[in-house]
Amino acid sequence: MTVGVDRAAVETALCGGGLRCPTPGCGRRLAPWGSARERGVRGAGRLRPRRARCTGCRGTHVLLPASVLLRRADAVTVIGAALLAKASGCGHRRVAELVGRPASTVRGWLRRITAVAARALAVLAAAAAELGTEFVAPVPTNDPVGAVVELVGALARAVARRLGGSCEPWRLAAVISGGRLLAPTGPDLGSDAGVAGNTSRLWAGDP
Ligand SMILES: [Zn+2]
Repeated sequence: MTVGVDRAAVETALCGGGLRCPTPGCGRRLAPWGSARERGVRGAGRLRPRRARCTGCRGTHVLLPASVLLRRADAVTVIGAALLAKASGCGHRRVAELVGRPASTVRGWLRRITAVAARALAVLAAAAAELGTEFVAPVPTNDPVGAVVELVGALARAVARRLGGSCEPWRLAAVISGGRLLAPTGPDLGSDAGVAGNTSRLWAGDP
């Protein structure tokens, strides 16, 4: 579950009852429930994400900042830079050099985003519709990575226009995908990780 970029903002939302359970059909209030194990994220420093427990179904959730994706050791901005380089025509070894990560790691990201591109595009398109953005949905078959990169960029511009200021595209993608951009089955369609609630928190935490 991706909630925002700023720990204090997460704390406020959590303690103030502002976060809702993402389990489909639940949606009850989340309450603080300790912290997850501290871990290092390359490009985002050391993180100790908060955990929350649902007051309804009692499910627990780790609250991820927008700088990271689930089970990935690199910041989403690093992964996004790799996807961008791939979309502009670099092979995976060149991409790996550009972002300073092992070629095998980069190949893993590219394979995964290619595999889940259709789902990722659907979730991004739903967020774009929620924002009232006019865009032509890219076709994922020819160049899935390019299509995702293009749509993430278009969304970031739309969010910046709507809310003012600027918007880091890949942090936005992390929020919209609920941290699941590179999850085995991609982001969840119809989950509560929608753009409406989370974008404002992203903004509040990181102007
Ligand atoms: Zn629940």
